[in-house]
Amino acid sequence: MAYLDYAATSPVYPVVFDVMDAVYRENYANPSSLYNIGYSAKKMLHESRETLASSIGAQSDEIVFTSGGTEGNNLALFGVLRASRQKKHFIVGSTEHHSVLSAAEALSREGFSCSILPCSPDGTYSPEEFERMIRPDTALVSLHVANNETGVIQPIREIGAITRARRIPLHCDAVAAFGHVSLDVRALKIDLLTASAHKIGGPKGVGFLYVRNEITLSPVLFGGSQERGLRPGTENLPGIAGFAKAVEIASLPAPSSVRDRLQSLLLERFPNAIVNGAGAPRLPHILNITLPGVPAEQLLPLLSAAGVYASARAACAGGERKSSHVLTAMGLSTAQAGETIRFSTGFGNKLSDADEASNAIDFAIRNKICT
Ligand code: PMP
Repeated sequence: MAYLDYAATSPVYPVVFDVMDAVYRENYANPSSLYNIGYSAKKMLHESRETLASSIGAQSDEIVFTSGGTEGNNLALFGVLRASRQKKHFIVGSTEHHSVLSAAEALSREGFSCSILPCSPDGTYSPEEFERMIRPDTALVSLHVANNETGVIQPIREIGAITRARRIPLHCDAVAAFGHVSLDVRALKIDLLTASAHKIGGPKGVGFLYVRNEITLSPVLFGGSQERGLRPGTENLPGIAGFAKAVEIASLPAPSSVRDRLQSLLLERFPNAIVNGAGAPRLPHILNITLPGVPAEQLLPLLSAAGVYASARAACAGGERKSSHVLTAMGLSTAQAGETIRFSTGFGNKLSDADEASNAIDFAIRNKICT
């Protein structure tokens, strides 16, 4: 079996599982409880927060634990905009994840005004074009560090210089990038950053939102005083400790050898294949490739039967019939988007997985199963 869908979700590292198992068995007290095992849970929460904060150059009191990337993105957008008194305009990118784009639509229905930044054919946003979109009433900018379908990395350093000079909060969805490339929120001038554990060998249902100390945020959930009131609810300590462990053991930047091998094997075998985003800097683990004449919907089940797992678009949109908004924003036709597959690698892959995937595609096409 070759699991090549780490950008959808990853297995957990065995050592992460061990850490979580120990928390469930031994450190199960509520971190807010006022007795010794409660203090022990609180200490673990604090240490995990420090590990995660320092992994992005933040302070530990700037980390708000969430249930994952979707919640982090919603909290950033709703939190900043609802706290903004006069300014009602915000900017999001055209290739953002649905948890940003759908939140933006909901905010537009609440009376905020949203501008959508297009991307160039290589998938990158232009800092100059972005700067021209800024208005005197722009209250927030939300642009991802890297795209989860193509792996294309955005010029966040340039964008951060512009937003900081204009004193506009910059939120970055880093779910695809975090744990795969180094990120330093101070150097990049990022004000809010979303991360999620389940793409990097951590558990599902846990993440964090970094909120720079100077940023004012309204909560979207109301209840207790956990996470400084920004995210009430008993903390998911097993998940948080597992997340911190995954970050501790991840090597940065993530190795690109399996992705690179798969890319060269496929380009050798299918000379008319197109690597989307090839002209831009890309994350080391994602390959988004169009195989003209080969519908992904037909190819993927055949690959699955051969034990090779990949996806046609982001997993959360997998059930939809619509084309990928990311690929169409990059100028691909609906037909081309339908002939595109995303492979994404991770810690459990071996170089031979690339050969297995390439052989399985070759077999399907040679036998004219797909065309
Ligand atoms: N943003 C991006 C770029 C993602 O890839 C994902 C997960 N597909 C999310 C946000 C949502 O993260 P989660 O699954 O943790 O809610």
